[in-house]
Amino acid sequence: MPKQKGPSEEVVTHLICEVCSSESDFNLIANELRYGEGRNVYRCSSCSLAFLHPKMTPEEERKFYEEEYGVILSNEKGCTPEELYEKQIPDAKMYLEWSKPYISASDTCLEIGCASGYFLDTIAPHVDSVCGLESHAQLSSFCESRGLAMMNSLEDCAENSFDVVFLFFVFEHIGDPRGFLDAVRRVTKPKGNIVMVVPNINDALFSLYDIPAFIPFYFTPAHHFYYSPETLTQLCDASGFKTEITTYQRYDLSNHFRWMQKGRPGGQEFYKSVFSKQLNDDYRASLQGAGHGDTIFAVLSNNILTNNSNQQYSN
Ligand SMILES: [Zn+2]
Repeated sequence: MPKQKGPSEEVVTHLICEVCSSESDFNLIANELRYGEGRNVYRCSSCSLAFLHPKMTPEEERKFYEEEYGVILSNEKGCTPEELYEKQIPDAKMYLEWSKPYISASDTCLEIGCASGYFLDTIAPHVDSVCGLESHAQLSSFCESRGLAMMNSLEDCAENSFDVVFLFFVFEHIGDPRGFLDAVRRVTKPKGNIVMVVPNINDALFSLYDIPAFIPFYFTPAHHFYYSPETLTQLCDASGFKTEITTYQRYDLSNHFRWMQKGRPGGQEFYKSVFSKQLNDDYRASLQGAGHGDTIFAVLSNNILTNNSNQQYSN
């Protein structure tokens, strides 16, 4: 685990770690967040879990997602559900490649937080059926208008409904990760998998290059937790899953050069006329091999089954 530097060595003692239950020794690693003030990010000295504090209250969270997050997303990723859909298709194809070893033609699939449905459409030809769950009303309506089957909530899904449940950049937004995993387990078949993608806090821009401008970009009030392969595995295993982790580097060498030069995002492919595909592939492989890939791909399989049934763990 690389040493994490932060804006302060302040230690607080009134918190409880979600992963290891430690109640002492938390280091402040960020006190300036993207889209918001008044919150900090701490890191547990015992298990290294990083988390937001204080968490948003349910009312703050509702307001954030209903009134603010849609505006943020549309500024960053496109003004309409159609634009978001088109822009995200390359990512959907990448997620499909990562997921292929874990899907089969007979699978029933659910994506939680499916946005405008780009991944569901991309994976649909490879599985038996897909459906989505999306709390953002405009995006959910867009999915329905395009003929995707949409669920209103996890509670509305029957037990043991799905072979695979997908979560792409969703789990870090969840304030009660253990309760959420229990709820997802309920709707997943006993031998099914949960496939998730989250940011890796061991991202080289933060944990290797230590770029100050990256801190208020990376840390946001929307993310309750900032996982590493180690802390994500510890959390999921403690919830009764067997967790398989791969890390990927999504951003290229140009992006990292621009962060170092200018202290800002947007450098992807900036030097594509000079940096070869081979150079970028080698760079990605080096970061991934050293545990600094920016993205965690995790597959959770149920590890607490008896008699081929998960009934005793259902809500
Ligand atoms: Zn801890």
